[in-house]
Amino acid sequence: MAPLPGRGLAKGLAVTLRTMTRRSVTAQYPEVQPELPPRTRGVIGLLEENCTVCMLCARECPDWCIYIDSHKETLPAVDPNARARTRNVLDRFAIDFSLCMYCGICIEVCPFDALFWSPEFEYAETDILELTHERDRLREWMWTVPAPPALDPAAEEPKEIAAARKSADKLAAAAAAAAAAENAEEQQDT
Ligand code: SF4
Ligand code: SF4
Repeated sequence: MAPLPGRGLAKGLAVTLRTMTRRSVTAQYPEVQPELPPRTRGVIGLLEENCTVCMLCARECPDWCIYIDSHKETLPAVDPNARARTRNVLDRFAIDFSLCMYCGICIEVCPFDALFWSPEFEYAETDILELTHERDRLREWMWTVPAPPALDPAAEEPKEIAAARKSADKLAAAAAAAAAAENAEEQQDT
């Protein structure tokens, strides 16, 4: 059936009327801070300790606004028969927030959980160059990253936690067995 003529206009007017009669609310920012959803994309925090300088985030960033510099360091071999090892040392990690489009790809692709969203958004600058946050500033944002939500009580235990618990249980059992053996020896001596 063909739509009635003027139906769209009536619908549009109804929306206008509804909006006109609704009470307007003024957000009193900055006196009153807004209540932001927990997954707000405000700024990116860097947990430098987790970064292995794999460069994945910089390569995947569609805006090319992540700058990473590093050098290789040779570590002496732990065993005389082993080879010396090399590792990447981070020299520079910076994000240019004047280019960033807050897509979150860098956070998604980081295999080592080194990047996180923080809901902080008050970092406007009058000089655009100041919007490039270097590693120290990115590290500071980590203090504003909210704790992850609690696991669903019915959810399966994450395999990392299960593995850690298994190792802890093994160590505790070995320590208990050693203590019991020591006690038994002491009793035999007395
Ligand atoms: S959020 Fe997107 S645009 Fe911004 S740094 Fe990460 S990957 Fe690049
Ligand atoms: S993807 Fe993660 S670990 Fe790799 S360089 Fe980026 S922040 Fe560091």
